Amino acid sequence: MSTRAWFAVFATLLGTATPSSAQISEDARQTSDSRIAAVNVALGALTAGTLSAARHKSFWKGFARGGAGGAVVYAGKRLIGEGNPSSWWAGRQLAALGSSEVANAAEGLPFLQRIVIPIGPVRLHVDRLAKRKVTPKLDLSSTIATVIIASRDRTRLAINESLATGAIVFVVPETSGTVGTHTAGVVSLSELVPDGKFPPLPTKRGVISHELIHAVQYDFVFTAWSDVMQHAIGKRFPAVGLVNRYVDVNLTLPLQLGVNSLIDYHDRPWETEALSIAKQ
Ligand SMILES: [Zn+2]
Repeated sequence: MSTRAWFAVFATLLGTATPSSAQISEDARQTSDSRIAAVNVALGALTAGTLSAARHKSFWKGFARGGAGGAVVYAGKRLIGEGNPSSWWAGRQLAALGSSEVANAAEGLPFLQRIVIPIGPVRLHVDRLAKRKVTPKLDLSSTIATVIIASRDRTRLAINESLATGAIVFVVPETSGTVGTHTAGVVSLSELVPDGKFPPLPTKRGVISHELIHAVQYDFVFTAWSDVMQHAIGKRFPAVGLVNRYVDVNLTLPLQLGVNSLIDYHDRPWETEALSIAKQ
């Protein structure tokens, strides 16, 4: 298969390489700040509460801590919506702290014992109570996405934008009328997004903010769901634990694939969130 065909398959599998907001009626897709905040709190609360209960621990304790974590994830997304380099970095990392706390609550660990910091295709796993405090792991999905996108014709790494966001950003040839896509933490900007003095261009800022909010959604699913599963599997099967030490595998991929195939692009709540927070 050609690289483009491989990319299409991979993007479909991840279900995240979706058109950005330029193609669709934005007004119809936006919702209120309070509703978005409530959904983020509820997601954190239900994730940690349910996983606590699955471990035969208090649902409500996990629910409360997870809700607080979800509120911090929301605050991070709002910062990203400000649309400048310092808020992109601060927003994604603040949201990462929130997602980490949801995972700590789910696993019954002390406040922020474990933190996952996403930087490009690497995720730094910090455990403040462990002997080995920092473990860098390669995010398998991000790495594959990076290699596939980079190998496409007329694609170039956008160095300024990558440094400004802490995510890998590519400028890609215009092929389908999309201004931006997000695949497993990797952002692609269309070559047609107006270029110029970076970052004061509102359009480019809006598109990057939109795609970074998808990166934060990806971080949440990875840290609060996939990592928790990966830890549980690693405890039970030590051989898997060896792989765990170097590589992050997104175990929620089949779930994402299923959900994406069930919901039409225009009805996807994660698109409504990105459109509402990252004003173009
Ligand atoms: Zn989007």
